Amino acid sequence: MSPRILFVEDEPAIREMVEMALTRAGYEVTSAQDTRTAMIRISDHYPDLILLDWMLPGTSGLDLARQIRKDKQTRSIPIIMLTARGAEPDVILGLESGADDYITKPFSPRELVARIKALLRRSAPHSEDEVIEHHGLKLNTGSQRITAGDTEIKVGPTEYRLMLFFMTHPERVYTRAQLLDHVWGQTTYVEERTVDVHIRRLRKALEPFGLAGFIETVRGSGYRYHPHPLT
Ligand code: CA
Repeated sequence: MSPRILFVEDEPAIREMVEMALTRAGYEVTSAQDTRTAMIRISDHYPDLILLDWMLPGTSGLDLARQIRKDKQTRSIPIIMLTARGAEPDVILGLESGADDYITKPFSPRELVARIKALLRRSAPHSEDEVIEHHGLKLNTGSQRITAGDTEIKVGPTEYRLMLFFMTHPERVYTRAQLLDHVWGQTTYVEERTVDVHIRRLRKALEPFGLAGFIETVRGSGYRYHPHPLT
């Protein structure tokens, strides 16, 4: 079955161009011109990925991303944000709102398809069930859930992949470029600061369980996962 992509964009010309490119690439595409319609489309049939324009009439793409992340049913749907703004604070804000990646307008259909492919690949479920446990922190590759004790730690798809990588590669320092390579799969379009944003989100999710310290910043190098008994 071809992956289903929801494209939320108010400009008809861009909608048409993207719809055509994605259909040609073998995806099933539905579109929405505003966030209200997008919510209806999402509840009709959960998409495998959402392509979300930042600038929309009424509620912005940013708000929609937050809404999608808040809802238990839609939380794990990967989101790529489309933005005409290149300014760093905006990009960071987009990623912090819950987007997994962003792409700056204008973009080529080829680049867009490559990014979609990469995100779908890293969000795809792991084939065999495996439970990894470090000092009460558990990751189940079958259910794709991370738990501390009996409580689920809720994270987005990219944070999950990051956590999976850390838990299977403990005690080693990885640079941002290496993390991009291993977790994002391809580094061509993603900038290194993206890693910091997702690390920050991951730590925030781990914080209430006293586990944020499992991910250490190694100054001048990168990050290291260092699980240790909690005191
Ligand atoms: Ca727009």
